[in-house]
Amino acid sequence: MLGTTIGVIDMEIPVSQLLGRNGATQGISFSEDWKEIAGYPDVVVFLEPVKIEGILTNENGILMLEAEGHTMVELPCSRCLRPVSVKIDFKLKEKFTNAGIFNEEAETFSGDYINLTDVIRRTMIAAMPIKVLCKEDCKGLCSKCGQDLNQKECGCDTTYFDPRFEGLRALFKVDEEV
Ligand SMILES: [Zn+2]
Ligand SMILES: [Zn+2]
Repeated sequence: MLGTTIGVIDMEIPVSQLLGRNGATQGISFSEDWKEIAGYPDVVVFLEPVKIEGILTNENGILMLEAEGHTMVELPCSRCLRPVSVKIDFKLKEKFTNAGIFNEEAETFSGDYINLTDVIRRTMIAAMPIKVLCKEDCKGLCSKCGQDLNQKECGCDTTYFDPRFEGLRALFKVDEEV
């Protein structure tokens, strides 16, 4: 059994020591600076590197990845849009196979490396909260004038809703259900 821990560049993991060795394991541990998430509709600011720790096991030719990931991102408050620091924890569970072995649940790879970038990106996006609050009782923005009601009351009569701000509301994704 192998139990080495290796460093990684660009989330590519060399797996040559696992190939052709049923039961062999390999620890993985690395952290990577991510600037942005491609394909994620909202802006995500990473406040710290994405850390991954786990293990790869060759099970009958299929490489099983089990790992945990942690990072810290900045997301806008769903009510007032103020930036909020959010800790993101996620679990990675994925199978990898090279051309020789077919498994419909597995990601395929060729050569001596598996690339974890896609798996990590997908899992990390799924782990992001849909709604974030800067504080439990955030008062949000006035639906009429856009004033941050945490800072001061604007005095608008919000019982009538001005349709001209419909576009602004959609832009800010203000959700009164939050
Ligand atoms: Zn807020
Ligand atoms: Zn107002």
